[in-house]
Amino acid sequence: MDRQRRNTRTKQLIMAILSDSSSALCYEDFDRQLSGKMDKATVYRILQGFCEDGKVHKIADENGKTYYALCHHCRSGNHDDNHLHFRCIRCRTISCIYEPLVIPPLPAGYRMMDANCLVSGHCPNCFNEIAGYEKK
Ligand SMILES: [Zn+2]
Ligand SMILES: [Zn+2]
Ligand SMILES: [Zn+2]
Repeated sequence: MDRQRRNTRTKQLIMAILSDSSSALCYEDFDRQLSGKMDKATVYRILQGFCEDGKVHKIADENGKTYYALCHHCRSGNHDDNHLHFRCIRCRTISCIYEPLVIPPLPAGYRMMDANCLVSGHCPNCFNEIAGYEKK
C-alpha cells in the first residue's frame, strides 16, 4: 500500500474509533485499539488534523492530559465546543455534556477565547453500580 492510501486508511480507522466511543479518548486508548500498529507521531498528526478541520476537539483533564472527542456542529477553524466535560472519578471516563453552558460575564478587560469546564463525579453506569451495592 502506498503512503497516501495508508494515511487515508489510518484516518478512517481513527475516525471510526472516535465514532464508536461514548466517551472522550486519550492517546493510549487509540494505541490500544490500533493494537500498537501506528506510531505515536502519526496518530497525533491525524488527531491534530481533525482538530484543525473542526471534526474533533481536545479536552484537558485535571492533570493536563489531552483527550479527544468528536465535534457536532463545528466548522474548520471555528470550534464551538463550550460545553461541559464530565470526568467520572470511578471509571475515569470523560464525556461531553451537550447542554448549553452559560459562562458568567467576565470582569472588564478579560476576553474569553475558550472555556474548559471539567465537572467530576460519578457517571450513570458507576452511579447505578454503587446504588446496587448499597442496596445489598
Ligand atoms: Zn469543535
Ligand atoms: Zn464511571
Ligand atoms: Zn466535548
